[in-house]
Amino acid sequence: MPALFSKTVKRVKNLLQPNGQQQPDTHVEMRIVPRDQHGISRKQISHNALKVMSTLHKAGFEGYLVGGGVRDLLLGGNPKDFDVATDATPEQLRKLFRNARIIGRRFKIVHVRFGREVIEVTTFRGSHQSPEEAGQRGRRPKNQQSARSKEGMLLRDNVYGTLEEDAIRRDFTINALYYTNADFAVYDYTNGLTDIKDRVIRIIGDAETRYREDPVRMLRAIRFAAKLDFTIEAHTAAPIRKLADALGNIPAARLFDESVKLLLSGHSLKIFQLLQEYRLFAQLYPQQAEKLQLSDSAEQSDNSAARLLWHALKNTDQRIRQGKAVTPAFIYAALLWPALKQRQQELQAEGMPEMPALHNAAQDVISRQQQYTSIPKRFSMPMREIWSLQLSLPKRHGERAEKMLSGRRFRAAYDFLLLREEAGEITDNLGQWWTEYQQLSPDQRRAMVDALPKGKAGNRRRRRPPRKKPADPH
Ligand code: ATP
Ligand code: MG
Repeated sequence: MPALFSKTVKRVKNLLQPNGQQQPDTHVEMRIVPRDQHGISRKQISHNALKVMSTLHKAGFEGYLVGGGVRDLLLGGNPKDFDVATDATPEQLRKLFRNARIIGRRFKIVHVRFGREVIEVTTFRGSHQSPEEAGQRGRRPKNQQSARSKEGMLLRDNVYGTLEEDAIRRDFTINALYYTNADFAVYDYTNGLTDIKDRVIRIIGDAETRYREDPVRMLRAIRFAAKLDFTIEAHTAAPIRKLADALGNIPAARLFDESVKLLLSGHSLKIFQLLQEYRLFAQLYPQQAEKLQLSDSAEQSDNSAARLLWHALKNTDQRIRQGKAVTPAFIYAALLWPALKQRQQELQAEGMPEMPALHNAAQDVISRQQQYTSIPKRFSMPMREIWSLQLSLPKRHGERAEKMLSGRRFRAAYDFLLLREEAGEITDNLGQWWTEYQQLSPDQRRAMVDALPKGKAGNRRRRRPPRKKPADPH
């Protein structure tokens, strides 16, 4: 790096010891990498994100692209969205952009909407000191507040700061790189560029403190490691197993959002292996954790729960690669299927008929899962339908097959049946039957139904026993 573009920033030095030890003599250099020395070109950036930055600059504010957008551009990828960081406050942003909306409470951000694209704009965050520290330095203005729980978790983070402060409150060094179209340079306060080059996930500051502030960072470390194929640096990885329980302090709704990002990342198989390795899986899905021993050889595993999950995740990753639709409902249905079956069997053993047992089991299993990750109704409803159709799919006599085929949830239920078969569940080749059925003409379909073995339990509508005539009183 030419000396001209390197500047020493001593203010951030103590926060940057990865192992939390004080090394007062070390310091981190802020690097400004000019346009001809990094791979980012303006052409790769959303027109709207550039517009937001330019508007900010014209109004006298700073505006930088930051986070996943810069990281993915530097890695040669295609960012899915662009975030902007600025010194303008949310209220100033609202005045500046007609199409801006302030959202969030714990962490106020501004969404600037351009048709279907939303540019997320955040005001630089400052350091979050303890109340004692804050007291010594004088009180913050009322609209600039942060708050912590007694476990050290950040409950609110609306303390505004400078660009440098904003950089060190971010989670990982690779996510703390800034790019601006004011000078087309990349600003690096945390050695993120080196970590990008070395393909390393490194938390900024002391890992334990940063995970306690926000335990979701543990899940993020794993998501980025799997998605980018990076290694988690030793100090960053070290406290995760010990702190895994802290995920229990996170609201279930946030964990659901996070779990969807994990499942739909396109690298879910790798992610679940890491979640298991770091003891985080049981924090998200305790009912499955009891049944699973997911390993590299899960495909051949004797554990049917592990096999089902392995195939579900593998198919999901594949579908995402092929640009096909995936829904959390389907993956959650697979995740909870072994627990559901067990509960259903228990209820049947107590004398409950099959279908009500399945519905009751679904209720139990979903309610328990919701204590960890909430499941919005728009996903739990299709999950229940996919499950109950598993009991209907074998019952094909009369008009039933035809009716099922035109049902709204048939496709998902059929895919789920194939998944169960792939994972080794015995279903009497039902998947094959349905595959053929869908390819045939109406006459051929009728013939298939007629050829079904008669009298097999569940395959035929049960005939009502003839009504006994009331005894003739005479
Ligand atoms: P992607 O959007 O590709 O999943 P991202 O890094 O952009 O990855 P976002 O969730 O969009 O992730 O967050 C944007 C940026 O905000 C991050 O890059 C990081 O700098 C910061 N950030 C997000 N979540 C946290 C967190 N929990 N703690 C600290 N910083 C965070
Ligand atoms: Mg992002």
